[in-house]
Amino acid sequence: MNGNHFSLILLATNQCNAACEYCFEDKTRDHLSIERLGLIVDKVLDHMDAHRIGAPTIHWQGGEAMLLPPQWYLEAFALIGEAAAKRGIQVDHGLQTNLLPYGPEWDAIIAEMFDNSVSTSLDYPNLYRKLPGRSPEHYDALWASKVRMARSAGIDVKVISVLNRATLEIGAERFYEHLVDALGVTDFQINTPFPGGEANTAKQALELDVAALARFHCELADIWLERGAGRDVRIGPFDQLVNYFTHRDATLPCIWGQNCADALIAVDARGHVAQCDCWVTSYPDYRFGNILESNRLSELLRDSPARRRFTERPVHLVQRDCIDCDYLALCHGGCPVRTYSRHQSLLEKDPYCELYKRLFRHIEDQATRLAGAGAMSPPTTNQGEDALGS
Ligand code: SF4
Ligand code: SF4
Ligand code: SF4
Repeated sequence: MNGNHFSLILLATNQCNAACEYCFEDKTRDHLSIERLGLIVDKVLDHMDAHRIGAPTIHWQGGEAMLLPPQWYLEAFALIGEAAAKRGIQVDHGLQTNLLPYGPEWDAIIAEMFDNSVSTSLDYPNLYRKLPGRSPEHYDALWASKVRMARSAGIDVKVISVLNRATLEIGAERFYEHLVDALGVTDFQINTPFPGGEANTAKQALELDVAALARFHCELADIWLERGAGRDVRIGPFDQLVNYFTHRDATLPCIWGQNCADALIAVDARGHVAQCDCWVTSYPDYRFGNILESNRLSELLRDSPARRRFTERPVHLVQRDCIDCDYLALCHGGCPVRTYSRHQSLLEKDPYCELYKRLFRHIEDQATRLAGAGAMSPPTTNQGEDALGS
């Protein structure tokens, strides 16, 4: 594992208050104790020292991360800050939450630990997100009230939205109007769905027509470029693709990374280590090991046959499926978990390949046109990771 930035997805609890039908996590009642957190943090920082990685970000999530109390995060923040200071490094923290347990008691720790910002999830229309025994409409209303409450406390609320068949039916115009104009969300990321974890009826219905999905992406990108980009509205991945195609610094989502195994790992509340949140709870055969049972994280990662399957994937794809692609240097074969949940193999290219190609071409054309017209003022940051869902 090389490079100067490292992301740790840390599942503070494997428990969740919601019961989203498409959830890829195999939830349990486990949560991290402060003592176990200390052991994990020491091993992660040792690993970073060994590989000269200087800038870690911990993405806190679950299950539902807010099921642990604010006081727990206060202790966790102090513990991590102390351990990092001894090594002369700084750890950044991000919080991915469904926001439903949020109340004013969270405000102080969100300000101190998370820079007064949270990332949450909203699909529109919402088909799958709900509380146990309740409707998606009930979820949406509760979520909206929590967002209002958080914003009134000065918290910046970012959104991840997973597209579904109803989103494609209403189209890009209504989707943009709802999120940006009606809900006032000005920083969001759209994700493609995948049937991760145990199969069920909802997950069987997640597959979308790729041509329709590509059309939706391109139309939404155009609406954003016309109405939002100049007004500080950020939509990932469009904003970062514009940056990429205009040779600016771009923070592309992990699905297009050179190899996600080089950039992040996930650790769940039992200490299991895997590639990201979906793998760590739902695919036991693909776990890299258990950090609490291992002396060193570096050895665990180095010796893991499961991790080797991830590190070898891009080379395999480049030699076979992606070698002639114009966007190989941007996409690298796409996301392993989207591939695996469709093909039960890592050694295929991402099932959204055709969407990516059409979107890349469209944004490249638009970025070239706008740069030529001197009309470019895209934002330069986004939420960074794709793996983060709650
Ligand atoms: S979402 Fe896909 S690309 Fe991102 S870390 Fe997980 S497997 Fe890798
Ligand atoms: S767009 Fe398709 S062919 Fe090109 S690198 Fe990505 S997965 Fe491979
Ligand atoms: S998708 Fe997130 S919020 Fe919904 S049940 Fe799964 S872990 Fe909980």
